[in-house]
Amino acid sequence: MSEDNSTAGLPGGVGESTRLIHGGRIRSNFGETSEALFLTSGFVYEHAEDAEARFADRQPGYMYSRVSNPTVEVFERKMALLEGAEAATATATGMAAVHTALLAQLRAGDRLVASNLLFGSCHWIVTELLPRFGIEVELVDGTDLDAWARALAKPTKIAFFETPGNPTLAMVDIEGVSRLAHAAGAKVVIDNVFATPLLQKPMRLGADVVVYSATKHIDGQGRCLGGVILSDHTFKNDVLSTWCKNVGPSLSPFNAWVLAKGLETLDLRIERHCRNAADLARFLEAHPAVAGVLYPGLESHPQHDLARRQMTASGPMLSFYVKGSKERTFEVMNRLRIIAISNNLGDVRSLVTHPMTTTHSKIAEAERLAIGITESMVRLSVGLEDVEDLKADLDQALRS
Ligand SMILES: *Cc1c(COP(=O)(O)O)cnc(C)c1O
Repeated sequence: MSEDNSTAGLPGGVGESTRLIHGGRIRSNFGETSEALFLTSGFVYEHAEDAEARFADRQPGYMYSRVSNPTVEVFERKMALLEGAEAATATATGMAAVHTALLAQLRAGDRLVASNLLFGSCHWIVTELLPRFGIEVELVDGTDLDAWARALAKPTKIAFFETPGNPTLAMVDIEGVSRLAHAAGAKVVIDNVFATPLLQKPMRLGADVVVYSATKHIDGQGRCLGGVILSDHTFKNDVLSTWCKNVGPSLSPFNAWVLAKGLETLDLRIERHCRNAADLARFLEAHPAVAGVLYPGLESHPQHDLARRQMTASGPMLSFYVKGSKERTFEVMNRLRIIAISNNLGDVRSLVTHPMTTTHSKIAEAERLAIGITESMVRLSVGLEDVEDLKADLDQALRS
């Protein structure tokens, strides 16, 4: 191992695209241009004394890929640079990142306050798993700062939310909630998947920990699963490291390599995703067969002003309501020829989901309807195709 270009090799103040391409590099003695892939589970020691010193934290170096790996480290360094965080911890999936970021710091008797608008599996962790271990959980309407203030009037360990939320694109005021949470002694953990690391920087607004499913736009090409937790050094060293080393939610070096490649083109892709999404949001809003569109970039979005304050663009995701029943909504989805039906998101391909019957089917009906997930809601993860082709595809399906 020779050159270490995590930040030191780059001139100060270089832009985000430059950092995405050159940042975090670990170059071996072979002088490769593209990052090497260290597909190895273990590492060897020259002498038994080296193994002893490494286990005693007296000698730096790799020991076992459950603990650390050079390729995984490249991905972590790139993510930390992009987020403006001191440290990153990569995980096998987005859900491994969420559950690690929460469980590694919670114990029986602690209290967590979360937004009611969460990704299906995050909702399960918060409402089903945590209470099993004696953790008190309160869900609030994430869009209502007064509701957060009431819930955070009691000492709390964690405030957890996603913004924009899946699938209604409702926004949480990161700065406002962070202020209330810190006053209650809580750490703020944000799932920033829908905004992507480029469009919203939660740590600048007060978040302590940011988590991603790297499966989504970070890979961006629908190839592999991954996750990452951004934090300061103290949180990584004191809370996450021991947990990850012993519990083992580690990212595969192969997937880390794919994800690091994804990061190199992230800004170009996100620019096109956002342009296509904004165009489709306006197209759908004007369509006679559509009852409404949820997209932070539209003036009709209830928190359009917050979106403009908090995000630098309106994002790659939107949802819309078809005029009519569940059967009519399914008919529209089934007639799409380019856009595919999938519960995944953040791919180069445009994908539609019917949240009520898939990603959010386990949520009680009353709660689901209160959030706005009805039988006629369709979530659209906008891809990188020619936008006129996507419009034509939606139009022929909606006019059927
Ligand atoms: C996909 C997703 C997750 C889970 O990520 P996996 O990589 O699928 O485990 C968590 N939160 C949000 C908002 C997501 O979209």
